[in-house]
Amino acid sequence: MSIADKATRRRPWRHPRNRKVVLPYRTAAAVALMEMGISDYAVIAEAVGLSTQEVKRIDKAEDEPVRLLSTLGIPSGEYFKLEKEVRCPKCHARVVLAPCVACHSMLYSTSG
Ligand SMILES: [Zn+2]
Repeated sequence: MSIADKATRRRPWRHPRNRKVVLPYRTAAAVALMEMGISDYAVIAEAVGLSTQEVKRIDKAEDEPVRLLSTLGIPSGEYFKLEKEVRCPKCHARVVLAPCVACHSMLYSTSG
């Protein structure tokens, strides 16, 4: 892992279109995994480097920015680097980026 990678994960992630959505990188990555259809807290926790308790809290969306991001969805073109690969529930590929690039680009290519 390069120094740049570490810096990226330390910086908060900002939604490109909604300035209210500012979240820790790992939190936003966890939301991206949930959006992919992964519901196992242990899998998400391991992939993003959080505890299962923290993931549970994110899933409850008690925090306003988390709730907003869940509603808005992960914007197209945004991908989060994972610490551990996960299996995409839709295409079954093992991915190190969330959301799954294959499924996500398929989704958006149809709309032009
Ligand atoms: Zn996929």
